[in-house]
Amino acid sequence: MTSAPAIPVSRAIDALNRIFGYPEFRGQQREIVEHVISGGDALVLMPTGGGKSLCYQIPALVRPGTGVVISPLIALMQDQVDALRTLGVRANFLNSTQDFDERRLVEAEFVAGELDLLYVAPEGLGTPAVQRLLDRGEISLFAIDEAHCVSQWGHDFRPDYLALSMLHERWPDVPRIALTATATTTTRGEIAERLRLTSARHFTASFDRPNIQYRIVGKNEPKRQLLDLLRTEHPGDAGIVYCLSRASVDKHAEFLSANGIPALPYHAGLSPQTRQENQARFLREDGLVMVATIAFGMGIDKPDVRFVAHLDLPKSVEGYYQETGRAGRDGLPSTAWLAYGLQDVVQQRKMIDSSEGDLAFRRNAASHLDAMLALCETVSCRRERLLAYFDQEAPSARCGNCDTCLAPPESWDGTVPAQKLLSTVFRLKKERNQKFGAGQSIDILLGKRTDKVSQFRHDELSVFGIGADLRDTEWRGVVRQLLAGGYLAVEGEYSTLVLTDRSSSVLRGEVTLMMRREIPAQRLRAGTSSSAGSSRSSRAPAAAPADFPAEAEPLFERLRAWRASIAKAQAIPPYVIFHDKTLRAIAVLEPSSLDQLGTVSGVGQSKLTKFGDDVLAVVRGEDPSGEEPSAE
Ligand code: ADP
Ligand code: ZN
Repeated sequence: MTSAPAIPVSRAIDALNRIFGYPEFRGQQREIVEHVISGGDALVLMPTGGGKSLCYQIPALVRPGTGVVISPLIALMQDQVDALRTLGVRANFLNSTQDFDERRLVEAEFVAGELDLLYVAPEGLGTPAVQRLLDRGEISLFAIDEAHCVSQWGHDFRPDYLALSMLHERWPDVPRIALTATATTTTRGEIAERLRLTSARHFTASFDRPNIQYRIVGKNEPKRQLLDLLRTEHPGDAGIVYCLSRASVDKHAEFLSANGIPALPYHAGLSPQTRQENQARFLREDGLVMVATIAFGMGIDKPDVRFVAHLDLPKSVEGYYQETGRAGRDGLPSTAWLAYGLQDVVQQRKMIDSSEGDLAFRRNAASHLDAMLALCETVSCRRERLLAYFDQEAPSARCGNCDTCLAPPESWDGTVPAQKLLSTVFRLKKERNQKFGAGQSIDILLGKRTDKVSQFRHDELSVFGIGADLRDTEWRGVVRQLLAGGYLAVEGEYSTLVLTDRSSSVLRGEVTLMMRREIPAQRLRAGTSSSAGSSRSSRAPAAAPADFPAEAEPLFERLRAWRASIAKAQAIPPYVIFHDKTLRAIAVLEPSSLDQLGTVSGVGQSKLTKFGDDVLAVVRGEDPSGEEPSAE
């Protein structure tokens, strides 16, 4: 270890106040920052929006040298660097999108010690050229962002991350801080081991996101259900709609656009240029809906994403949590909504069975899916289940802000229907040596004389018509829950139903199967509107906190309009200038001097210099648009 003189923590607090304009550290930030500025390694687990960036940005600013940030988010590096420069931080990036001359400039800045922060892509760091470059300058720390990408069993694995274990060997005296918003105990261990961070201090924040309302609904008419959600609860809001396939993304983006909701597609089948354009528009324009595969979203730091909707079942709880976590980074009320049905279970099981992976891979995928299904079928609090998955305890047994807490689902004893269904599958196999999909078994139970029933003379089976007491949708619920519980399985190209080892316990009456009854959508909404705590009118797109006075609304809207024009002129996202939260605080305070404006959280020195006069003019009711914002 080099024995440099200790850096006082007051310098970190000074940077927090002066550069970022925040009065104090949040949660564990102070502890983490202190640990890293004194040269310690850290593994930081914090939910999205928790404030991870400051944990490495401030140490990079107060330690001598440049902080090297390893990030897989090449398409977002320009935005990240722009945001830091707006704060007056000297930042730049190196990645494959730059040409030779651009790279040379950045390299020269680094070697000359002119950078506080340098973002690099993991694949770049693996090259001897970049490694030699880093040897020529002074490095204050390595920050490994999105550290879960090193986990091979996770949902975002990037092979280039494996090479990052060499950082420790090559630069043993440089502190390393790895950060991620997702990690079960297993993934956490894997990150620590693969990045050689086993002796690093681990900081684990609560993963709870209290402002996100989790809802999982039965999927019957997904398009109509989605439209209903957006029109009644999120008119004019920005949000993300996740679909499993590219075709489904295209279809739903068109559908929303045709219904008057501005929506853009994003998936790996689009050209890199279109993807980049759509992403930039989503970040820069207000109220756009992004319809995307999971290829979209990592590192998106847009603070006002008001909803994340899943039209297909995510493959794991970790993935689901990561994706839904993109809602509500600003702490304001937001919705995580998932529509899920029998077909999802069938499709995902089939995908696992027919995958190229070996047995270990398939087992791992199956256990991830089982955990996701358990979350969908639970009759207890969703938040509690989610947190339990990350080995954390919920603040209380009922959170009051998820569908099961707001409108507790009824459960009913489904043992007898389950037996009827399983014995239909059993009889088809035993008496006819046939296997069919769910639809045929349900038609048989309902006593429907369809062409297919007549053709196979299934009306002669003893189970024909014995299930007429339930509706078709209820039967589909029974099949879905049997599949989720492993009492039934699907097989082969036609997704035929087959019994499992566990089926006999149901048939012999050894287990009681309590099932979740679907809740009609209207009832749920009636339950949520009162407790979501937002008194927003259907016209106002940005969720206003309950304590925001209506008198301040007009000034807030004027400040937003001013911000939009500056953002457009400078080609940066509006939230890089000021967050809604900061604009609201300004609208309430109505500052009349730069000093007064500087007391608002989120207004640091550089932003005060750049935008202060403009903001004061807007507050006075003048139009600052004719003039340029003051130069740096
Ligand atoms: P993460 O990377 O963990 O998702 P960010 O670092 O982007 O989260 O921080 C989330 C938001 O919280 C950002 O808008 C950031 O400016 C804000 N923030 C972070 N730390 C503080 C703090 N100490 N005080 C006020 N706001 C903060
Ligand atoms: Zn709950």
